[in-house]
Amino acid sequence: MSRRLFVTTALPYANGSFHIGHIMEYIQADIWVRFQRMQGREVHFVCADDAHGAPIMLKAESEGISPKELVDRIAAERPAYLKGFHISFDHWHSTDSPENVELSQDVYRKLRAAGLIATRTIEQFYDPVKGMFLPDRYIKGECPKCGAKDQFGDSCEVCGAVYAPTELKQPYSTLTGATPVMRESEHFFFKLSDPRCVAFLREWALEGRLQPEVANKAREWLEGSTDTAGERSSGLADWDISRDAPYFGIPIPDAPGKYFYVWLDAPIGYLASLKAHCARRGLDFNAFIAPDADVEQVHFIGKDIIYFHTLFWPAMLKFAGYKVPDRVNVHGFITVSGEKMSKSRGTGISPLRYLELGMNPEWLRYYLAAKLNARVEDVDFNPDDFVARVNADLVGKLVNIASRCAGFLVKRFDGALAGLDHGAHEGFAKPWAGPEAVATLYEQREFGKALREIMQFADAVNQYVDSERPWDLAKDPARTADLHRCCSTALRAFRDLSLLLAPVMPEMAERVREFMNLPAADWAALATPLPEGHRINAYQHLMTRVDPKQLDALFEAPAAAASTASSSAAAPAKNSKAGAGSASAAAPGPAPASATDGETIDIQTFAQVDLRIAKIVSAEHVAGSDKLLKLSLDLGEGRLRTVFSGIRAHYAPEQLVGRLTVAVANLAPRKMKFGLSEGMVLAASFPDDGGGVFLLEPDSGAQPGMKVR
Ligand SMILES: [Zn+2]
Repeated sequence: MSRRLFVTTALPYANGSFHIGHIMEYIQADIWVRFQRMQGREVHFVCADDAHGAPIMLKAESEGISPKELVDRIAAERPAYLKGFHISFDHWHSTDSPENVELSQDVYRKLRAAGLIATRTIEQFYDPVKGMFLPDRYIKGECPKCGAKDQFGDSCEVCGAVYAPTELKQPYSTLTGATPVMRESEHFFFKLSDPRCVAFLREWALEGRLQPEVANKAREWLEGSTDTAGERSSGLADWDISRDAPYFGIPIPDAPGKYFYVWLDAPIGYLASLKAHCARRGLDFNAFIAPDADVEQVHFIGKDIIYFHTLFWPAMLKFAGYKVPDRVNVHGFITVSGEKMSKSRGTGISPLRYLELGMNPEWLRYYLAAKLNARVEDVDFNPDDFVARVNADLVGKLVNIASRCAGFLVKRFDGALAGLDHGAHEGFAKPWAGPEAVATLYEQREFGKALREIMQFADAVNQYVDSERPWDLAKDPARTADLHRCCSTALRAFRDLSLLLAPVMPEMAERVREFMNLPAADWAALATPLPEGHRINAYQHLMTRVDPKQLDALFEAPAAAASTASSSAAAPAKNSKAGAGSASAAAPGPAPASATDGETIDIQTFAQVDLRIAKIVSAEHVAGSDKLLKLSLDLGEGRLRTVFSGIRAHYAPEQLVGRLTVAVANLAPRKMKFGLSEGMVLAASFPDDGGGVFLLEPDSGAQPGMKVR
C-alpha cells in the first residue's frame, strides 16, 4: 500500500516577514515532499501563520491597528516568498481560525476529562499602569549577578546568567516603565509530570522516531539530569498553559478571562490547517487524526523548539485521543560566513531582496540542499562558496551537457534520438551509487550526499562528451552516425539528471520537460531510457551563471530598512512568541517602494477602466514567442476573446485553464504579430518581475462578466 504523508513546517510567528531561516526550513521540507510526490506517494503538506500571543497584541497596539489587521498584513506577504522559492504547500492557514478554536478547545476538554489539567495560583509580575500581567520578555532590570543595567527578565546578555524575573534588581515594565508589582492569578496547567505522560513520552521519544541527538535531549528532560555539582534536577514539570486577559488568543472553556498560552494552540494549528485543507479537497479529516490513522505525520522544525515538539505536543495529542507524530525532523540554524544571526542585523540575507534582485531561487535551493544533512547541524551560507558551487555544478556541469549536445541533435537529426548505446549507458552507471541509493538519501534527508552522487554522474557524462568531442564529429560528414549517437547518449543522461534533481530544482526540471518533450517528472521514469526516435524541441536556455555583483547587492544594507525594522517600540527584540532562543531573528527586508508616485486620480477616471471577471477557457503556448501565452477568455459576453499575455515564464498553460482572473475589457484591441489581442489580464509583480508574476484571482463565488470596482 502506498504511503500517505501529512507533512508540516513550523508555524512562523505572524509579527514579521519571513527571514532566511524560515526559507531554509521550507526548502528542506519542500525537497523531501517533492521527492515523495515523485515516488507516487500521497502527500499533504501544510503550514499556517502563528497568530496569537502577547507580542502580536502589543505590536498591533503600538501601530494603532487590531491584532487581526496586523496578522492579515503579514499573511498577505507570504505568497510572494513561497511562490518565489517554489515552496509547494498544499495549504496555508492561520491559528486565528475557527478550525483552530474548535480543535484547541477540544484537545483541552479531552485533557481535562483525562484528569491532566490542574489549576494553581501563581504569583507573577503585573504592570499596574498597563493593567496586565507581564511576560518575562517585557520586564527589564539590573542583572542580579553582574549588575548590568537593562537586562531582560530571563537572562543577562552581559554575563550570561539565567534567572527568574523576580530576581532582577530595580525591575521595570518595558511597556510603560512602571515598577511591576507581584500579583496572584489562577493558572491552568497541563500535568506533564503525570506518570502516564512520562511513561508515554519515554516510549514515544526513545523509540527511534527522533534523530539521535534529539532523542538524547529528550532523555535528559525526561529523566532529569545531574549537574557538575552533583545536584540532580527533577524530570518534567507541569506546563502553564493559560494567560490572563488582555490576551490575543483562544478562550479557555468555562474559564472567563483566561486564554490558552500561544504555545498550546500553535501546534494545534498544524491540525487546523490540515482540517481546512481536507474541507477544500473533500477529504476525511478524521482519517488523518484518529489514533490508528494510516498516515505518517512528519514535522520539520528548527532546533530551538525541540522542547515543545518532543514533549508537550506528542503528550497533548496522545491524551486527547489523537494520532501522535511519527517523526520530528530537526534542523540547525543558518549562519552567514560563519556568523550567527544577529537580532538587530538579521543575517544580512533578506529572502525578498534575493528575489527582487532577480536571483534564481533554484541557486539557493541547490546550494542549501548541498549543505543539508539529517543531523541537527547549522548550515553556513558563504557568498564566495555560493557563487563557486552554483556556477561550477549547475552551469559548468549540468546545463553544459544539454547546451553542448541539444543543438546538434535538433539541427542535424530533426531532434530525434538515435538508438540506445548500451556500452555508454552502462558506463554511466559505474561512477555513482545509482537512482535507488539517491532515493534512499533523499528519504533520509541526506540531501548533500544525494547531490554529490548526482554530480558524480554529471561528471561522468561530461567526461564522455569531452572525449567524444561532438563539435569535431560535426565537422566530419563520415562521422554523422557517431555524432548522433554521442548527442543522444548525453541527452538521455541529461534527462536522468534533471529527474534526479527535480526535488531540488523543480523549475529547471519543468523547463527540461518542455524542451525534451517529457511527461510529468516521475522517479519511476529513471528505470527506462528514452526510446529511439524520441523527439526533443529546440534547446531552451536553462540557467545563467551567478554574477558576484548580485551577491554584493544582496549584502548591501538597504538604507531604509533599518527604520522599518525597528518601527515597533513595544515589541521585544526577538521575533519570537516565546522569547526563547530562536532562529527567528528579525531579518529586515528592503523598504517597500512607495505604493503610489504621488499623483492621484479621481473616481471617475478610475471608473473609465472596465474591469471584468474573466474565465480562462483555454491557454496555449505561442509558436515563435518565449514570452507570450495565448488565452481564450470568457467575459460573460456569449463569445470568447483572445488575449495574448506575457506570462509564459511564470505559468504553464495547464495551470491556467479553468481559473478566474481580472481582465481589462475596454482596452483597445491590439494587432500583434501572432493575432489580435482583445484586452489584457491583470497580474501582480515588482517592476523588474523579480519575485515572480502573480495572476489576480477573485474570491470564490465570482462569475465571468462581473464588474470589478
Ligand atoms: Zn549579568
